[in-house]
Amino acid sequence: MKQYDYLIVGAGLYGAVFAHEAAKAGKRCLVIDKRDHIAGNIYTEAVEGINVHRYGAHIFHTNNKAVWQYVNQFAEFNRYTNSPVANYHGEIYNLPFNMNTFNKMWGVVTPAEAKAKIQQQRDEAGITEPKNLEEQAISLVGTDIYEKLIKGYTGKQWGRPCTELPSFIIKRLPVRFTYDDNYFNALYQGIPNGGYTAMVEKMLEGIEVRLEVDYLADKAALDALAEKVVYTGPVDAYFGYRLGALQYRSVRFETEVLDTDNYQGNAVVNYTDAETPYTRIIEHKHFEFGTQPKTVISREYSAEWKKGDEPYYPVNDEKNGALYAKYKKLANTQEGVIFGGRLGEYKYYDMDKVIEAALDVVKKELG
Ligand code: UDP
Repeated sequence: MKQYDYLIVGAGLYGAVFAHEAAKAGKRCLVIDKRDHIAGNIYTEAVEGINVHRYGAHIFHTNNKAVWQYVNQFAEFNRYTNSPVANYHGEIYNLPFNMNTFNKMWGVVTPAEAKAKIQQQRDEAGITEPKNLEEQAISLVGTDIYEKLIKGYTGKQWGRPCTELPSFIIKRLPVRFTYDDNYFNALYQGIPNGGYTAMVEKMLEGIEVRLEVDYLADKAALDALAEKVVYTGPVDAYFGYRLGALQYRSVRFETEVLDTDNYQGNAVVNYTDAETPYTRIIEHKHFEFGTQPKTVISREYSAEWKKGDEPYYPVNDEKNGALYAKYKKLANTQEGVIFGGRLGEYKYYDMDKVIEAALDVVKKELG
């Protein structure tokens, strides 16, 4: 018999939820991570008393009551509601696309006026069945909003024109004919008081965690420790990129401490023009209504991933979808290995969906 029932590769949200549930059921778990900290990309660290989201802003939101209750076991959540603003060459618009946005853009006041304006622009563009992100966007919100708030931002974010991107990406954003600036259509939303790292720490309480352990560099010896492996790293890296490399978008953050208590008045400001080199600026203290004398901001630069970078977003276009399907087939042939999470499943996962997926899999595993 091996020393552990499960070797969990990756101490991010998927790995932590799996480990927590398996350990609770009496399984012997070892969690490893190649970084020097737990919590994966939801890692937060205190700088000047402010919880900084080191790998990008994470706002917890879900419609699933069970998932909401699940995370509330590990942290208390505040009432933060995401409502980013878009800065287009100094013009400020509310997001997601709602009556505030339409009013600022066109001077329209009623939902009927806004709908008529969008219909007119959709007709002028002649779109009946949207085939890509550009057509989908114009058909949802018209040409003006597409040009000012979507085209430049999306081009920077994905490094591809909107005509080459799948329409589902833009469908992540609500379009509302009410004056409601809540970015998410979610019943439950908030940020864990004290940051995400503390929440993941709680999930991993009592479970052995080894940091700065590179699984793929020492795979055979690590595999020998456990009956089964839960792998949450990039699926293509697991197979030595033998079918080719999947594409990811990477993000670089320029983080600065500023000697002011309030830099931009909002946690998230998107720069939606094509010329500003970064996509957005995050002012971390506003996630927790911070009153510290200083502030910490991160400018977010999007780039194509290359080996050695951190992979963030899977590129869900046709080419990568087809390649992932092949890796998935390979993955299914790996006895005793579970592939999970954003990188293991090459999926643009929100946090609540990651938790749902990990809970489903652990339930199947434990019978
Ligand atoms: N998007 C946009 N303008 C914005 C914000 C978002 O065009 O100001 C588009 C863009 O294509 C982006 C997608 O909407 O990739 C999804 O945005 P979301 O905020 O969900 O991205 P995430 O927070 O996951 O980076």
